[in-house]
Amino acid sequence: MGDNENMSNVSTAFNNALEVISKSEPEVAGHIRGELENQRSQLKLIASENYASPAVLLAMGNWFSDKYAEGTPGHRFYAGCEYVDKVETLACDHAKELFGSSYAYVQPHSGIDANLVAFWSILAHRIESPFLASHEKKHVNDLTNSDWETLRQSLGNQKMIGMSLDAGGHLTHGFRPNISGKLFDQRSYGVDPETEMLDYTSISNLAEEFRPLVIVAGYSAYPRKVNFAKMREIADSVGATLMVDMAHFAGLVAGKVFSGDFDPIANAQIVTSTTHKSLRGPRGGIVLSNETELAEYIDKGCPMVLGGPLANVMAAKAVAFAEARQPEFREYANNVVTNASALAAGIEKRGGRLVTGGTDNHLVLVDVRQFGLTGRQAESALEESGVVVNRNSIPFDPNGAWYTSGIRLGTPALTSLGMAENEMDEVADIICSTLQDTEPRTTSSGENSKAQFKLSDKVRDTNRSRAGDLLTKNPLYPDLHLL
Ligand code: PLP
Repeated sequence: MGDNENMSNVSTAFNNALEVISKSEPEVAGHIRGELENQRSQLKLIASENYASPAVLLAMGNWFSDKYAEGTPGHRFYAGCEYVDKVETLACDHAKELFGSSYAYVQPHSGIDANLVAFWSILAHRIESPFLASHEKKHVNDLTNSDWETLRQSLGNQKMIGMSLDAGGHLTHGFRPNISGKLFDQRSYGVDPETEMLDYTSISNLAEEFRPLVIVAGYSAYPRKVNFAKMREIADSVGATLMVDMAHFAGLVAGKVFSGDFDPIANAQIVTSTTHKSLRGPRGGIVLSNETELAEYIDKGCPMVLGGPLANVMAAKAVAFAEARQPEFREYANNVVTNASALAAGIEKRGGRLVTGGTDNHLVLVDVRQFGLTGRQAESALEESGVVVNRNSIPFDPNGAWYTSGIRLGTPALTSLGMAENEMDEVADIICSTLQDTEPRTTSSGENSKAQFKLSDKVRDTNRSRAGDLLTKNPLYPDLHLL
């Protein structure tokens, strides 16, 4: 991450910032240092995390944070937005070029916000707008109370299908604990019980039977590619709008690993994403579309769903998109996938069972019942051994969403550190030897605990030191030396 000159610049920038922060609240400066130490001492295999560049991090910490800018560039509800306009336009232009979309909206504060903007844009375009036209009104404020009530009922009466949670879908795709599930009547599609892969015929049958307004594709824990061209065919056949949430794999789309039928932008009417996962930007969301008619409604995300945009984060998004346009980012995206395959092969050859038998993206889902463990035990034992992962449901999970039967492993972060296939084999060995040594504790009623476990100090310490060796050879922010 930089040459010699940058090396001293990066250290100077962060050391000076910490000194300034210390003067106001030294504890916060201490916690910022602590977080770096933590991140430098653990192998990060959380599939949704990454390491943003110093440039991205620095672009977030400045006075852009102080500016209100509700509206869109050139059309704000506040004065004084000259530079917010410039930075937002730049971020949009970079996003459009990077993803090959004709429209981009970079204001969402997170992935959940991007999805809400998308849902409400679809509802505004497909339900509200025709209703207003049929009542010869331009604005909802012009409707009578009784017509407004009819429209509200109709907005709340729409249907959606999305991928089931235990197959790898996300809560924001219409599940009841999330607002999306309170807004839409949702049915979910799962995976084939044998192959654990998506079965497009059964998705098509569900769509035919349920006739949703929206079909959501995208996942947070499915280790395979999704054929978005097929999903679009299904959506078209029932008059649904296809929305793809590429939060997890946006980096692979930007890096052109997913193209043709697997490119969400070319196939869906609307695409949402986070910017902080495989895309390696700041925490935030985006919405992309090639449909001019939808763009008009997406642009109203603030104030429809969002508060004032975070101009500092939009600045950081522009920096991240500029970085992702470089040829090195394509190489990075390819390496993320090669590393995931190497990690999968390493785990499989040591006796681990992989959900779907492998991976063709950035993540690997391991069924830890093989090791006699729950996901919760595996997650904790690995953390003690210097490896940070998250427990995850597997398809048809008998252990439920809290204890789970799986762990999800992702390679975006370790690939950012420059690790390659050899290191992935070592990581697979650290993971498997830890899990092989871990045993559930027995509860007072004589049953296997789902949370408590035993792991020998020897294996834990050896593996922690092996993880440390990998991190010493592939350090996080090598140019950054905190005083
Ligand atoms: N969509 C998907 C597929 C995700 O995996 C996530 C985050 O885990 C989100 C949306 C929500 O993103 P955020 O945490 O930025 O709101």
